[in-house]
Amino acid sequence: MSHDDDAQKIAELLFPHVESGDYFLKLSPPRDLVAGACVTRYAPSPTGFLHIGGVYAALISERIAHQSGGVFVLRIEDTDKQREIVGGVQLIASGLGEFGIVPDEGMQSDMSQIGAYGPYMQSERLPIYRAFLKQLIAAGNAYPCFCTPEELDAARETQELQKTKTGYYGRFAKHRDITAVEVAERIARGETYVVRLKSRGRDGQKFAFSDLIKGGLTLSENDQDAVLLKSDGYPTYHWAHCVDDKLMQTTQVIRGDEWLSSVPLHIELFARMGWDAPRYAHIAPIVKIDETGSKRKLSKRKDPEANVELYLREGYPISAVIEYLLNLANSNFEDWRRENPKKSYRDFVVRLEKASASGALFDFTKLADMSKEKIAMMTAAEVFSAALVWADEHDVALAEWMRANAEYARAIFNIERGGEKHRKDIAKWSDIRESIAYFMTEEIVFTPSEKIDPQTTAEILEVAAAAISSTDTADSWLGKLRGIAVSHGFAPDTKTFKASPEQFKGTLGDVAMVLRCALTGRTNTPDLFQIIQVLGIERARARFAKARATI
Ligand code: GLU
Repeated sequence: MSHDDDAQKIAELLFPHVESGDYFLKLSPPRDLVAGACVTRYAPSPTGFLHIGGVYAALISERIAHQSGGVFVLRIEDTDKQREIVGGVQLIASGLGEFGIVPDEGMQSDMSQIGAYGPYMQSERLPIYRAFLKQLIAAGNAYPCFCTPEELDAARETQELQKTKTGYYGRFAKHRDITAVEVAERIARGETYVVRLKSRGRDGQKFAFSDLIKGGLTLSENDQDAVLLKSDGYPTYHWAHCVDDKLMQTTQVIRGDEWLSSVPLHIELFARMGWDAPRYAHIAPIVKIDETGSKRKLSKRKDPEANVELYLREGYPISAVIEYLLNLANSNFEDWRRENPKKSYRDFVVRLEKASASGALFDFTKLADMSKEKIAMMTAAEVFSAALVWADEHDVALAEWMRANAEYARAIFNIERGGEKHRKDIAKWSDIRESIAYFMTEEIVFTPSEKIDPQTTAEILEVAAAAISSTDTADSWLGKLRGIAVSHGFAPDTKTFKASPEQFKGTLGDVAMVLRCALTGRTNTPDLFQIIQVLGIERARARFAKARATI
């Protein structure tokens, strides 16, 4: 019997009753897209929480698709049943939804699936993987391997002793040329098997590969007879991704660079099937500087900041996290944002070739800075509603207070907003409590300045209390403050003070500091005049009097 006949027989023995690959190909007609449109997918395994690196990869994929007028797919790779966690799919789908990353096809956050190229859960695609595998086996490009774990271990030991490459390949691939007769016998005996690729790759042969992020690379051909179907009937990632990305017509596979070493195998799989491989873009992981000062990948286990839950809980505005990640991907984002302060981040064009090829360093200070900028640009009403949405979920007491004092809260948020000076003291909604605390309580702790004698401090508080009025403007208030300063021996401004410091007790700023501390208990606050306006004259006077009484 010829080899070809044998291969066909083996295919029949393993998969007697499956549809043909053609049947499934016909179910996936070419997509009707404009020229240059990209089809991308985010293809996570539901094995834990949504990782910030996952949002990063999904965001890049989504942008590449949508900025080209293409399609973004969310495919769930649930073929490793042992590692799957309960609710894992929901965590991914709704997590992405919270970040505004919405797939056109695939799993939705309500757990439904949409799109004509599904199902989009790999566990629901088993007949499809089998159909094409049958084709691969029939063509002599794959075969069942009945090796037991013990046999595989023994082969590995031999390889180690002989100091030769480990793995299942070439002369070590025991069942490479298995006959149909032997397959039939083993199946009849109830032996389990995996299906392996019959690699045609040559040891030591190199080929050129062009990655959309890493650029031109020289890789070694695959010569391993990799497992494509596991003994439990589920495909391996390698096989499932090849079939799915073919049928879903993915144009760019954008994935973590831990898969770069599998590229030779993937290229071979597409070649053996006679399919064009998609382009690949391997994203460098998000890294951090750890306690020892060295760079390492953000760890699911060790780093709380790996979990997107943290960003939601702390209340970073979604848009800030998204823009931070975009800046991590393309460092020219920030310049673009400066030039286009009002545009949607979706107007920025992401370029894969500009993404970091080695490792994107996650920097919380930078995230906080970008977030402060974002919040600074919001109106008081926007701050109020976004903060309320957050507080409803994460700080119920604050939410209640905001609802009961809505107008007052909006006035507080309006301080240094909309004018020339933008307050930049809020990076995340969980900062709000601390930032507005002195508006929420009358328990202010006044600490008199040691630079000013108690008598003068007391007088400043008394005179200021008498001076403030509801008809003050920023200018008239400043005039009054200057008057109080000068009449108590302080310089009206820093310049005058610096010219002859010995003549003064201090400057206008020192006088303002006494009032600031009496009103807020702090030495650093937004504009004093605006604070008085929002507190109201009576409350401000009461605070001055209370501070005075402590001297
Ligand atoms: N399930 C794979 C992972 O989570 C997907 C890689 C890919 O995008 O192809 O790493």
